[in-house]
Amino acid sequence: MRRPTHEVKIGKLRIGGQNKVAVQSMTTCSTMDTEGCVEQCIRIIDAGADLVRLTTQGTREAENLRNIKAGLIARGYGDTPLCADVHFNPNVADVAATIVEKVRINPGNYVDPARQFKHLEYTDEEYQQELKRLDDRFCGFLSICREHGTAIRIGVNHGSLSDRIMSRYGDTPAGIVESCMEFLRICEREHFPNVVVSIKASNTVVMVQSVRLLCKEMEKEGMDYPLHLGVTEAGEGEDGRLKSAVGIGSLLIDGIGDTIRVSLSEEPECEIPVAQSILQAARVQMCKPEFISCPGCGRTLYDLQDTIRRIKAAVEAKAKVDVRYKTLKIGIMGCIVNGPGEMADADYGYVGAARGKVSLYKNKECIEKNVPEAEAVERLIAFIDKDLDSNS
Ligand code: SF4
Repeated sequence: MRRPTHEVKIGKLRIGGQNKVAVQSMTTCSTMDTEGCVEQCIRIIDAGADLVRLTTQGTREAENLRNIKAGLIARGYGDTPLCADVHFNPNVADVAATIVEKVRINPGNYVDPARQFKHLEYTDEEYQQELKRLDDRFCGFLSICREHGTAIRIGVNHGSLSDRIMSRYGDTPAGIVESCMEFLRICEREHFPNVVVSIKASNTVVMVQSVRLLCKEMEKEGMDYPLHLGVTEAGEGEDGRLKSAVGIGSLLIDGIGDTIRVSLSEEPECEIPVAQSILQAARVQMCKPEFISCPGCGRTLYDLQDTIRRIKAAVEAKAKVDVRYKTLKIGIMGCIVNGPGEMADADYGYVGAARGKVSLYKNKECIEKNVPEAEAVERLIAFIDKDLDSNS
């Protein structure tokens, strides 16, 4: 069951509640490069992103978000909200909040001094003084966000906890969670619900444990803020994809997560299909046809890899023009021994029956026996077409 959360408004996008899990990415070019950012945002949006984040180091970059927004509107991409990513300077967050739909701040460096990586001792009084300073500054930011209808993300990173938090909690999931809860308590007291929260770490175990702990702590204090999930510095290629799938996927399967970002050291638009595949593998959202195929063994009755390629190509071509194909699950099994039982989750199936012969299935029911292999892919697609038409 999905963890209950309240809905957060980010321009025209809604995150949390019963809304679909939103997918996002982040630009990699300088935020002063207006054309470069517009082009990159468009590539990210065309790949399927619901939100695009841009790094916003200073007030100049924050101001330039206005030009980037205008460029996107002029190109017909104005509906996708933008998020400014702010660190170290709360004044930048104030400016960005007047321009874009969402601002991410990092509790570890919002007003706490830059971390010195020394063991600092805080007296209770010093600790409370810093908390009070944080409270005062953050309330000013919330007023600006309230006035402009801007959403915020309280985004904690394991790698940037403040010295103050480290002095009390150490480098622990409890410290990561408390860093977030301090800000959330202020949002609660100020009745500011337009908040998404995240806890990220490059260590997937720390990330998953910290997010689970955050959910428990929020529940204890009666909070239901939606969650943004991600594994930071996941890397690139297969390693980055696997780390992201393990971290994000574990939580999605628990019903946790309202928006996700897969961080890859690649072009940002490459992150979107991976995010969609993770959502699908966690059975959160069907974004594309799914193929349930066996690994093959000594019993396999046809060229499994070639057949998978041909069925995939035919079904994916259909899915481009016929939305009903987008949510289909197709089983492709090398033989009858375990085939039909193991692909019980599939809508349609292609199962080796004898050498050169294939049986076609709808769910667990065989609808055509011993079809000559040369005709079988075509016959399967023709059957699916006819069946979908008869159901619509
Ligand atoms: S379905 Fe048949 S061919 Fe495929 S792995 Fe199982 S036993 Fe082997």
